[in-house]
Amino acid sequence: MRDGFGREITYLRMSVTELCNLRCRYCMPAEGVHKRRHEEMLTQEETLLALRVAAELGMRKLRITGGEPLVKRNIVAICEGAAMIPGIEEIGLTTNGTLLPKLAKPLKEAGVSRLNISLDTLDEKKYAWMTRLGSLDMALKGIEAALEAGFARVKLNAVLIGGFNDDEIRPLAQLSARWPVDVRFIELMPMPDGAPFGPEAYIPCDRVVEALPELEPLPGGDGVARLYRLPGGQGRVGLISPLSDNFCGWCNRLRLTADGRVKPCLHSPAEFSIKGLDREGMRRQFLAACAAKPEQHPLLSYAHRSAANRSMNRIGG
Ligand code: SAM
Ligand code: SF4
Repeated sequence: MRDGFGREITYLRMSVTELCNLRCRYCMPAEGVHKRRHEEMLTQEETLLALRVAAELGMRKLRITGGEPLVKRNIVAICEGAAMIPGIEEIGLTTNGTLLPKLAKPLKEAGVSRLNISLDTLDEKKYAWMTRLGSLDMALKGIEAALEAGFARVKLNAVLIGGFNDDEIRPLAQLSARWPVDVRFIELMPMPDGAPFGPEAYIPCDRVVEALPELEPLPGGDGVARLYRLPGGQGRVGLISPLSDNFCGWCNRLRLTADGRVKPCLHSPAEFSIKGLDREGMRRQFLAACAAKPEQHPLLSYAHRSAANRSMNRIGG
């Protein structure tokens, strides 16, 4: 599938639930989300049919996300089903990590090869404050479980937030020396429903390069990330800059929400529903979403909020 700007669309980010066991301030309101009726959400059969259609249209890479995908009762079965679909070459999953001690091995056995684990701070009190419900210890145990399970690649994602973790750039980056993991810093995006952070919270990824002058740039990139390595590092340090360095020219994604909407862009309100449709209907909606991909998302900054019509947990970050 090619969009109207010649980009080949090969990557599907699929949210399997809007629910989460945490309430990160940049992602969700404190009260969580209103639990939707079962009938409004994609069933396991619809999810796997949608993946089959997406694979037939040329999607090769799948990332499963949420909400928190590991709170989904049938997550292992969904991953197993996805792994059996011809054309899907790689399955990754993004998680807050807290449920990995129980699920890392079954997910690996089901065919997930890559894990992204969110970790914004190494300070227990700050972790508890930002996630409202989580404990740092649970997240660290999850990372250890992921490393023991032997995933092909484990990445730790830290949302860079001025006044919160910009004093932890070095210890977070050093996790790529302590463990064979990539550490990626992501600029905070002004999403709807995220807690109102002030302008000082929106800091560019260049701040990471300033804090770590010894970073060695690596050639090429990894998707939307600029890559570096700390001297002696086992893993890499990645910078993802949706605000300061627009990477839409490289975009190869569509998104599928847990209630069955194909989204052409994270920051657009456009949606194409596949809920209740048969194979041909789903195919048409995927093609329509691909054709509707904008050339790039509008400027994002503290003053310019995302035009997305949903909070991050309801889109799938
Ligand atoms: N629950 C899982 C997790 O936390 O990794 C998966 C879903 S979460 C929405 C996916 C990613 O989006 C996480 O790495 C999270 O930090 C990131 N995220 C959420 N809100 C964000 C925001 N406003 N700006 C930048 N990243 C955000
Ligand atoms: Fe949950 Fe992930 Fe959102 Fe945090 S970022 S509230 S863990 S969905």
